[in-house]
Amino acid sequence: MEIIRCKRCLLPSTLSGITFDENGICNHCRKYENDFREWDQIKERKREEFGNILSGAKKLKRPYDCLVPLSGGKDSTYALYLCTKVYKMKTLAVSLDNGFLSGIAKQNIRNALESCNADHMFYTINRENSSRLFKVFTLKTGDFCSGCMRAINYAIELATKSFRIPLVIKGSGRRVQYVSQIKEVTSLNTASYFANVIKGTAAEDDFKHFARYRFSLEFQKIAGGVNDIFGLPRTRLMRFIPQHIGLYDYIYLPFNEIIGILKKEMGWSDGAGSAEHLDCELHDIPFYKDTLRIQNITRHTFHSSGLIRQGLLSREGALLKEEQEIGKENPPAELTKFLQENNITYEEYVNYVQYSDTSRFEPKWQKVARDMYHKFRKF
Ligand SMILES: [Zn+2]
Repeated sequence: MEIIRCKRCLLPSTLSGITFDENGICNHCRKYENDFREWDQIKERKREEFGNILSGAKKLKRPYDCLVPLSGGKDSTYALYLCTKVYKMKTLAVSLDNGFLSGIAKQNIRNALESCNADHMFYTINRENSSRLFKVFTLKTGDFCSGCMRAINYAIELATKSFRIPLVIKGSGRRVQYVSQIKEVTSLNTASYFANVIKGTAAEDDFKHFARYRFSLEFQKIAGGVNDIFGLPRTRLMRFIPQHIGLYDYIYLPFNEIIGILKKEMGWSDGAGSAEHLDCELHDIPFYKDTLRIQNITRHTFHSSGLIRQGLLSREGALLKEEQEIGKENPPAELTKFLQENNITYEEYVNYVQYSDTSRFEPKWQKVARDMYHKFRKF
């Protein structure tokens, strides 16, 4: 049967919430177009704004001007490069090793730190403890990545608190977040969500501290969001509440140019060509999981559609790759290993992925707040 796809980006009609206009173009493409059509006119202003936020942080004269969460992947390494070498910020980089951090990522982290003057902290969770947490998340939600995300954020929170760091600069941004608007593949992912998932499980005693500051965190998030909606500069809030910003919301370069800079300036390597998500040994599992939840997609669909929209990949080439892989049941080797280690059968896994109701862990008012934010936020 013919799959109905967006004529521009190839997303299939099987996604919930996808709509097509009279030209066969999907709402995700139209939204992207709408958000970034005027980018060329505003990009100078955005760069200036970025510079102002950074110099605002410097003026506070804290032990560190900013914190960069560093995974060893290209986006976080680029954030570190900008902060240290271009904007000369006193920078603390923070990395999480969830026990599954890949060798290439560790090497990239080492090389990056040797290439710049940032200080660095590693928060390492023992692999067996991590595994226990991931198992709980798999059984309850079908997805362990949100458990790991909380661990990363916890490490960031500890460091910002200890050193009173006013600014966190992430290698993210709406333009490169291919899936943030796709309902099936995102969960709320707040500290309260984390606390609700592990409640009453084997992981609760070991990990409940990850959600310790949840009420103040959620307040901070809302305060930041309200600022964005009203277009107020984050510089004023920074003195009281650490501000998290995504660098690609201010500065944008096509990824191949970024990789060129990183290879030259930060000793970065793409690990034989797979520049996307090379940092975790389990990285293929979440993409495979999505194919179990949504019909007519492959592990590459969202990434490809994002690149097509940015004009960095041709639709024809991506479509060919889609058609070769669609409908194949080929669980990645690391999934098989993970399931074996945790005494979960493949059938059970598929069941957890397809039938877990994650919304029961999401506080309702937080869902409302998130939807409002995505609706009203503009540049
Ligand atoms: Zn589209």
